[in-house]
Amino acid sequence: MKCQICKKDYYIKRGFLDLFREENTYICNSCYNKYKIELSHQEFMLENYNCIVVSMFKKRYKIDYRAFFLEYSQIARSLYFKENYELIMLDFVDLSYNLELLNMYANLLQSNIIVLCYNYTE
Ligand SMILES: [Zn+2]
Repeated sequence: MKCQICKKDYYIKRGFLDLFREENTYICNSCYNKYKIELSHQEFMLENYNCIVVSMFKKRYKIDYRAFFLEYSQIARSLYFKENYELIMLDFVDLSYNLELLNMYANLLQSNIIVLCYNYTE
């Protein structure tokens, strides 16, 4: 398989028990270690509603983040059913710049919001 980040070929070691198990990966082990997923979140109040920003990475890397779409969708699925919250999925959030936009989203949805993103800056 070809790694979607470094574009090198890589192989998944299989044993007898998992020989026919389907496994979807698009990233090699060295890229997984290099670009570690470190979930973090920040919670704050908007004008009328509460907002939680969940970020997958602590740093902003110069990579194609679409390679992590499986992980992104798994996290999104786990956040989707949080009561009294609407999920918004964005790539990057600049909290100093996008705060007014998040406030408008929350007012539009008339709900607290969770924003899932790859990385946010304050
Ligand atoms: Zn790689």
